[in-house]
Amino acid sequence: MRILLIEDNRELSDWLSRLLRKSRYVVDAVHDGADADTALATQLYDLIILDLGLPGMAGLQVLKRFRQKSGLTPVIILTASDAVSNRVAGLDAGADDYLVKPFDPLELEARIRAQLRRRQDNRTSQVVFGPLVLETGERRFSLDGSPLDLTAREYSVLEALVLASGRVVSKAALTETVFGFNDEVTDNALEIYVHRVRKKLGTGKVTIGTLRGLGYALRKSCG
Ligand code: CA
Repeated sequence: MRILLIEDNRELSDWLSRLLRKSRYVVDAVHDGADADTALATQLYDLIILDLGLPGMAGLQVLKRFRQKSGLTPVIILTASDAVSNRVAGLDAGADDYLVKPFDPLELEARIRAQLRRRQDNRTSQVVFGPLVLETGERRFSLDGSPLDLTAREYSVLEALVLASGRVVSKAALTETVFGFNDEVTDNALEIYVHRVRKKLGTGKVTIGTLRGLGYALRKSCG
């Protein structure tokens, strides 16, 4: 799950990014409206967190432009004031939810889950690949009924592969899924995470196959 965080307060932005990454989201952080515009034009997000008070283009403007271009991603706005007019303007511009600063991070995370769940209710909540099961709402994997303990990036690798259900996922696509654009990515960084996921899957019924020059694909043994 990839989140775009648009917040000009660096301290708050860094803190929220760390927090969300710990909860296994891939986070891209931008600090003004113009960069937000660019990010939204080039990358598909599962959720957007938008501070209304931004330098340059105001948050409300970013939101309106995004919705005008038929962007459907759920948006949670952060507002410094709990003035009703502010919240109403945000919701009118197409926000799905809002939080008034200061807020409890646990509440933000609950709101994020609620938005993602609402979106996923229209899809299946479980993705099954042989003995490997992904609970999309809880964002948890189990293998043969036992929970798999994965870090954020390991989770992203396996999520992308299981959603492709056996089809090949290119290295480029996987790299884009796993790393935020604030991350420095070395050539073999992706291989490292794939290797770790392989180890956690063990040598059992589900493995990650390498298709040289093409990418990776999930395989299940028919045994
Ligand atoms: Ca601000």
